[in-house]
Amino acid sequence: MLAVRKTGAYPGISLDQISEPTAPGADEVVVEVAAAGICGSDVHVYEWSTGYAFMKSKLPVTLGHEFSGHVVSVGPGVTQVALGDLVTVIPTRSCMRCSYCAGGAPNLCLDRDTVGLTRDGAFARFVRVPALSCLKLAPDTDPVLAALIEPLSVGDHAANVGEVKSGDTVVVLGPGTIGQAAMRAARWRGALRVIAVGMHDESRLLTARAMGATHTLDLAEIASLTDAVLAINHGRLAEVVVEATGHPSSVSAGLDILCRGGILVAAGIHAVPVTFDLTRLVRNSQQIRGAHGSRRRSWEMVAERIALEPESVRPMVSIELDLADAQLGFEKCLAREVSKVILRPT
Ligand SMILES: [Zn+2]
Ligand SMILES: [Zn+2]
Repeated sequence: MLAVRKTGAYPGISLDQISEPTAPGADEVVVEVAAAGICGSDVHVYEWSTGYAFMKSKLPVTLGHEFSGHVVSVGPGVTQVALGDLVTVIPTRSCMRCSYCAGGAPNLCLDRDTVGLTRDGAFARFVRVPALSCLKLAPDTDPVLAALIEPLSVGDHAANVGEVKSGDTVVVLGPGTIGQAAMRAARWRGALRVIAVGMHDESRLLTARAMGATHTLDLAEIASLTDAVLAINHGRLAEVVVEATGHPSSVSAGLDILCRGGILVAAGIHAVPVTFDLTRLVRNSQQIRGAHGSRRRSWEMVAERIALEPESVRPMVSIELDLADAQLGFEKCLAREVSKVILRPT
């Protein structure tokens, strides 16, 4: 079968013919992939930017961790899903032995493996995964939208970490897919205003509107972000800021527009250390909290939202391509021309 793989510790991907996965072992299933999204982290892996050296010992590996598909083969002992079920797969599997797992927080596990990063993923027709990682979906769920559950759950987790409440004003720095997911999640949680901020980002800010942003700001077109937020928000600063850019200046800019006692959620991956005025943060009783990945509860909630209101998340999908055109899909992501690119292996 055709597979999009990372084969070496250098930039690029390769499209290779590889053998189909072997029969599932105990507690495993094989999923025939219906749709798989290209994630920002896949693009980092493509570029081979810093922070992905952990993959080196696992190469070559088939990429793809945001996906849906049908169960086509079931190993011994599997009870969670059955042949023919439409599922999405929580890509990160926790060890269930470390102190975090034992303490009931498997999302903080020290020893995780991830489908599509450290074991073969879904940019191929078939993928073998642990049955416990599958989330069974309503059979009439659109498989393309089901492939969005992963990034949407990351956004939901960020909104949860930021304790977004009804009536809040939330500013999301960065209109990429995680930013868009955080906007949608903030609206689901009742935020009154969601302000999306980009930089030379006309098309992604348009998508941000469709994903729930009530206002958009392009830094290339305004003199002061703080003034613009105050103008939109009737003279008040934001209760929650979500940083989803990875740009070094964005934490400081985010604290400038955060109210006293507010929470800045850091969800972007930064290639270099960040500086900001800590004393001012202390005096303003602000908090910075890191949000990475998500918890199963977010997956379940997003899956139900998609079943109830599929059109509320569809704008995130920019294009669907055959798996054979993966290179083109990555190039569009690199050019920041698109939100989510969906690859379809069949
Ligand atoms: Zn992802
Ligand atoms: Zn663990």
